[in-house]
Amino acid sequence: MDQLIKIINQTEFSKQDIVTMLCAEGEDKKLLFAKAKEIKEKEIGKKVHYRGLIEFSNICSKDCLYCGIRKGNYEVERFNLSDAEIIAAAKFAHENKYGSFVMQSGEISSPAFTDRIENLLKKIKKITNGELGITISLGEQSQETYQKWFDAGAHRYLLRIESSNKELYYKIHPKDEMHNFEKRLNCLYALQKIGYQTGTGVMIGLPFQTMEDLANDILFMKTFDVDMVGMGPYIEHPNTPLNDYTAELMPLIKRFDLALKMIATLRIVMPDINIAAATALQAIDPIGREKAVKVGANIIMPNITPGKYRNNYKLYNNKPCVDEEPEECVSCLDVRIRLADASIGYDEWGDSKHFSKRREV
Ligand code: SAM
Ligand code: SF4
Repeated sequence: MDQLIKIINQTEFSKQDIVTMLCAEGEDKKLLFAKAKEIKEKEIGKKVHYRGLIEFSNICSKDCLYCGIRKGNYEVERFNLSDAEIIAAAKFAHENKYGSFVMQSGEISSPAFTDRIENLLKKIKKITNGELGITISLGEQSQETYQKWFDAGAHRYLLRIESSNKELYYKIHPKDEMHNFEKRLNCLYALQKIGYQTGTGVMIGLPFQTMEDLANDILFMKTFDVDMVGMGPYIEHPNTPLNDYTAELMPLIKRFDLALKMIATLRIVMPDINIAAATALQAIDPIGREKAVKVGANIIMPNITPGKYRNNYKLYNNKPCVDEEPEECVSCLDVRIRLADASIGYDEWGDSKHFSKRREV
């Protein structure tokens, strides 16, 4: 216990310190979680900010070996919401005072897709009087495309590195030029250079992943100086190549616990960034996201995709709320956040404090 107390009160952390935090059990784990909560409340307060999430298309040109909507999964019925449906979702987020909107989809890189997103961003900004913050998570694109979307009104971008260990990255992606580790890194640099609040993240509990890999992921986030992180447990999907390694995985509940420890540890290492409570946590534990809020997370992304499409955006088993409509999520989440000893920053963008400080420097 003495060793953990010493570590959590430091301001600089070695890889071994991080491994020790990630391995904390019993009283040590309680201390880790309590310290992360204390740091969050001191640095950014008790507020949780919402990002209304629309998963507007499951059409994807890539074949990530873990993902249920990969191009090679022919069992999925593909969908693409109309512009009117996406705009209606943005209005819903605005009217329900969510403060921010996230647009996410499979990865498509074509001039038509680029133009469509640019036009949508401009329209959404206009109809919400510039009041709705916009995050996008649309995969790897050219610097020019990222710039166009930034100029059209998106100000945050989420692109998970998935794993900062290049060898592990290539074990969970096909080895071809469509799935290139350096390209993903360069995309993150481009986003940061353009001026986006830049977010990344990893999956936790992947086959072949070690504690050292996860510690290195946290050090990667720190060195890269990210503004926001969205990370959650890896959950297998039956129609994916990585599903063959299910026998090698730690039990779901352990992956969940490790994800909470990753969130708490990251909060201690990077006190002022935005950390999202990933939806995958809720797939394992119905109150998984609220538990994440208690140990350092400060962002929740309620799903506001129309109910009829949700079943076809299944990245993994047991994706939650697939049979709900956006309205049902509003009331149920509010109560749950309050139970997690937090309040909701309605109508606020909830930008990353780290980003503002980085800009001042
Ligand atoms: N296509 C974009 C991309 O890959 O960046 C955005 C959408 S993608 C579905 C969003 C995230 O889902 C990925 O970054 C990945 O970490 C996560 N994901 C995919 N399959 C998953 C799985 N089986 N378990 C947990 N998370 C998964
Ligand atoms: Fe496509 Fe993203 Fe899934 Fe990879 S993780 S297959 S890019 S949707």
